[in-house]
Amino acid sequence: MTALLPGNIVYAGPITCTETHAYKSLGHYILEKYKSFGNQTVMIDAVTGQEYTAKYMYDSVVRMAHVLKHLGVKSGDVVGLSSENSIRFAIVLYASFAVNASVAPLNVTYSEREVHHAINLSKPKVIFASKLTVDLVAKVAKKNGFVKTIVALETYNGNEHIYTFEELMSSANIKSEDYFDTPVADKNEDVALIVCSSGTTGLPKGVQLTQYNILSTLDSNLEPTAIPMGEITLLTVIPWFHAFGCLTLITTTALGTTLVYLPKFEENLFLGAIEKYRVLMAFMVPPLMVFLAKHPLVDKYDLSSLMVLLCGAAPLSKETQDLITERIGVPIIRQGYGLSESTLSLLVQNDTACKAGSVGTLKLGIYAKVIDTETGKTLGPNQRGELCFKGDCIMKGYIGDAKSTQTVIQDGWLHTGDIGYYDDDFEFFIVDRIKELIKYKGFQVPPAEIESLLLTHPKIKDAAVIGIPDEEAGELPLAFVVKQANVVLSEDDVVKFVSENASPAKRLRGGVIFIDDIPKNPSGKILRRVLRDMLKKPQSKL
Ligand code: AMP
Repeated sequence: MTALLPGNIVYAGPITCTETHAYKSLGHYILEKYKSFGNQTVMIDAVTGQEYTAKYMYDSVVRMAHVLKHLGVKSGDVVGLSSENSIRFAIVLYASFAVNASVAPLNVTYSEREVHHAINLSKPKVIFASKLTVDLVAKVAKKNGFVKTIVALETYNGNEHIYTFEELMSSANIKSEDYFDTPVADKNEDVALIVCSSGTTGLPKGVQLTQYNILSTLDSNLEPTAIPMGEITLLTVIPWFHAFGCLTLITTTALGTTLVYLPKFEENLFLGAIEKYRVLMAFMVPPLMVFLAKHPLVDKYDLSSLMVLLCGAAPLSKETQDLITERIGVPIIRQGYGLSESTLSLLVQNDTACKAGSVGTLKLGIYAKVIDTETGKTLGPNQRGELCFKGDCIMKGYIGDAKSTQTVIQDGWLHTGDIGYYDDDFEFFIVDRIKELIKYKGFQVPPAEIESLLLTHPKIKDAAVIGIPDEEAGELPLAFVVKQANVVLSEDDVVKFVSENASPAKRLRGGVIFIDDIPKNPSGKILRRVLRDMLKKPQSKL
């Protein structure tokens, strides 16, 4: 029962489930779960139709854990993982957990510059890369001495010395394939995942999620109040290299569901998978919800098995939600709100907390408060301010960046950079974002990153990037650019420059506007609100 504690702190009560407590580590827990599920089908590749049992996963994870141990990977080491959703992604992820190493998933659409930045944050000792990314990963890794081994998850035809997944798995010198003695973890300290997030400002940073962050999140999902899972079929196309995708993968594994996965979104494949596998529940992001609400292809498939849609990563409008209910009749559509820095969702809608525009109520074990952005004073119900959260799911900090960590976590409270409020029923509403972040289809687009990229262009004197609203994508990045004197530079030149040097989500789909000066405060901070206001007034001279 959610209550208001003294000092206007909202709390939903403690997590009572203690299922994960008995295990030595996150890897130990996952292996034991797989062991208990036996011959149950736990994963299905929707492209190949290949089905995988828990026994197959158990054996493969054990074998890969031996391989990692042989490669010298141990607690404190980092394993890079650059792959689309695939069975081998899951095997490497869980084997790394089994040796108490951290996994740093890498976005497969990253440009060379972005891969370089990401691996310099996490400094992986070994990187596993899919066919799509292995050439780029090998090229970047060569320039960074800390990467000792690269493993091609499928094939590799280049000249670098690279192992293949198959070669390593078959050469694993293990006496008994059915056992791996997982070392005891320091769950509060040992980092399981390092995911990229720019936080409230600046360039992408490495969010460190500990084993305990993840185990306590699993416990909260096992609470009787959570959506019951068990032996049901779920579908996901959310990339596992993103925190939301990766954590839903881990959660569904622990719950013994059958997870049907797609390596990337393809309309017919997505709808066909729901029909073929009689999918009961799907993980969604708002653009996928818009697709279900509006795309003509949807009518060609039997989606009657769909009972639950769980949507996160960006705001979902009530209109889209209602359109889906009308069109497909999905009985339960739940929106969640969370950050990479909070492991998974902090707020989730439930049967009673689902007012229009609400992102639901607090999950168990989490404290929330709303603070005045000017004074820092804690506000009461129905008052808008910055949302702050405290609890076992809050990250350990940004890797190697104590300063940024102290900016976002103060006295244990995560400052989200999101503006919102809670009403008298403790339902939360997100109304604005004060942090410097654009979300394109749920993907982070840090303005500071595009701005610093634009400033490397010889014809650009200054630049500022903001997000403009878009129904399907949520927001589109738009750049205000100040040209150097006497140069010729077109909008297309700028768009092309960003496309060539950044991943697709960061493309300037919102356009480019040339202006004389970027509005800044006396300390040089870009006044983004002034730029936004300029767009609202078409008559003003841009
Ligand atoms: P990420 O770390 O990439 O998951 O991004 C977290 C940010 O996404 C949050 O701080 C919010 O700004 C935004 N976000 C996530 N879920 C929602 C939601 N349901 N409604 C509004 N914004 C959301």
